[in-house]
Amino acid sequence: MQKLAIIGAGVSGLTVARLLREKYEVTVYEKESTPGGLVRCNRLEDSLFHTCGGHIFNTKNESVMEFFQSIFDLNTEFIKADRNSSVIFENGEVAEPEYHGLFKKKSPVFNPVPYPVENHVYMFKQDIQQRVINDLFSIKRKQQSRREIKFFSTFLKNRFGDTLYDLYFKPYNEKIWQKDLSKIPLSWLEGKLPMPSPDDILLANFNHTAERQFVHSTFWYEINGGSQYLADRLAEGTNIIYDTEINEIEKTVDGWEINGNKFDKVVFCGNIKDLPKILKGINTLDDYEEQIQRLPFNGTTSVFCEIDRNPYSWIYLPGTQHKAHRIICTGNFSPSNTAKNLKLTGTVEFTNYISKEDIDKELENMPMHPRYIGHVYNKYTYPVQDVNTREMIQELKTSLQKFGFYFTGRFADWEYYNMDVAMGAAMKTCKNL
Ligand SMILES: Cc1cc2nc3c(=O)[nH]c(=O)nc-3n(C[C@H](O)[C@H](O)[C@H](O)COP(=O)(O)OP(=O)(O)OC[C@H]3O[C@@H](n4cnc5c(N)ncnc54)[C@H](O)[C@@H]3O)c2cc1C
Repeated sequence: MQKLAIIGAGVSGLTVARLLREKYEVTVYEKESTPGGLVRCNRLEDSLFHTCGGHIFNTKNESVMEFFQSIFDLNTEFIKADRNSSVIFENGEVAEPEYHGLFKKKSPVFNPVPYPVENHVYMFKQDIQQRVINDLFSIKRKQQSRREIKFFSTFLKNRFGDTLYDLYFKPYNEKIWQKDLSKIPLSWLEGKLPMPSPDDILLANFNHTAERQFVHSTFWYEINGGSQYLADRLAEGTNIIYDTEINEIEKTVDGWEINGNKFDKVVFCGNIKDLPKILKGINTLDDYEEQIQRLPFNGTTSVFCEIDRNPYSWIYLPGTQHKAHRIICTGNFSPSNTAKNLKLTGTVEFTNYISKEDIDKELENMPMHPRYIGHVYNKYTYPVQDVNTREMIQELKTSLQKFGFYFTGRFADWEYYNMDVAMGAAMKTCKNL
C-alpha cells in the first residue's frame, strides 16, 4: 500500500484522511494537540466556547451531505434549528416600534431588525423607507443596461440601493473585511451572496417574509460538544500525530520525506503562506513566492461571554460605535452549550487583534450586557483574494500535482470555504489521488 501524509487535522485534512485511509496508509500531522483547526471548541465555566465563529453545518451539495451522513446520524447526534438573526441599529434609524417586544422594556435603545435587513425596510423610519423605495425603482429602470459587475461595493449598491448600502451593507462589511469594498472582487464571494431582485425585496416587505421561510434557512448543530464533536468524530480511527508542526517536506527521488518518514504522496491542508519555506528539493514555488506572501487576510478575536437571554442565533452590529461586528448566540444553538447557572453564552466577534484592555472597554458599551469569560485570537480566519488569486493557485496546484504533492483547504486554496465547501473541495482533491 502506498503511503500518504496529510498536513493538518482541520475539516479538510480529516475529510481527505477519511476518504483515502482504505486506499493508502495514511498519517496525519497536526501541530495542535486536538483535531479541528478553526472549528475547535473549549469548555469554560462549564459552557461551550467556539474558539472561532459559531460553526453550524448545512450544505447544498448532495455528495457532501451523503459523506456527512455516512459518518453522522443527523437524527440522534444533531439538532435541526432555524436561523433567527437580527441586526441592531443604534442611531435612531428604526421607527418606534410595537413589534420588538423582547427588548422593549429592557433596552429601549436597541430595536432589532430581523435579518435580512432588506426584507424589513418597513421597520425603518418613513424617510428611510421612502429612499429605499426610490432606490429600488431606480434599480429596476437601470436593469436593462446592467454591465458585468466586478467588485463587491458595486454589487451591493446595484442590488440593494445606496440607502441600504450606507445604512447597513457598507459599515457592516467594512468592519468585517477592513478593506475598501470597491477593491474586493465579486468572484471571491460567489455563491455566498443574496441575490434578491427589487421585486423580491418589495414583496418580502409587503408580506413580512421571515428568515425561516427561506430555503436553506435551517442548519444542523451538534447536540453535545459543538463543532469539536464533529472534528473528534471525523478524526476517529485515523492515525493522527498531534503536537507536531511540519516545517520541512523534502522531495526525494521516489517521493517525499517528512520528519524522517518516507511517503509516496502528500496532501497539504495548512496555510499556503508557509509552503515556500516548508517545501524543499523542488523550485516550483520560486516564481510564486512573492505573490503568495502578498495575499491579504484577516484574523478574528473571539470573546466568549455570558449575555442577556434572547431568541437569536446571530446579532449583527453595523454601528461604528462598536468595534465588534456580531454576537453569535451559541448558547441558543444547543441547551448543552450554557451552564445551568448562567443566563446564556455567546461569542462577541472582532476582526483582527484586539487587546484584553480594549475588549473590556468595548464590552462595557455593547448591547446584550456581555460579561467576559475568555478569548482567543486567531491570526488567520478570512483569506481575501484579488482578481488573480484563483488563477495563480490553480496553476500552482497543477504544477505540484506532477510531483505527487496536493493541497486543499481554506488557507491552502485561499478560499472563503465553509466546512461543507471545504469538505467538497477535499473530496474533489481525493479524486486525483
Ligand atoms: C469566524 C468564522 C466562522 C465560521 N463559521 C462557519 C460556520 O458556521 N459553518 C461552516 O460550515 N463554516 C464556518 N466557517 C468556515 C470553517 O471554519 C472552515 O471552512 C473550515 O474550518 C476549514 O477547515 P480547513 O481544514 O480547511 O482549515 P483549518 O481549520 O485552518 O485547519 C488547518 C489545520 O492544519 C493545521 N496545520 C497548519 N499548518 C500545519 C503544519 N505546518 N504542521 C501541522 N499542522 C498544521 C492547523 O493547526 C489546523 O488544525 C467559519 C470560519 C470563520 C473564520
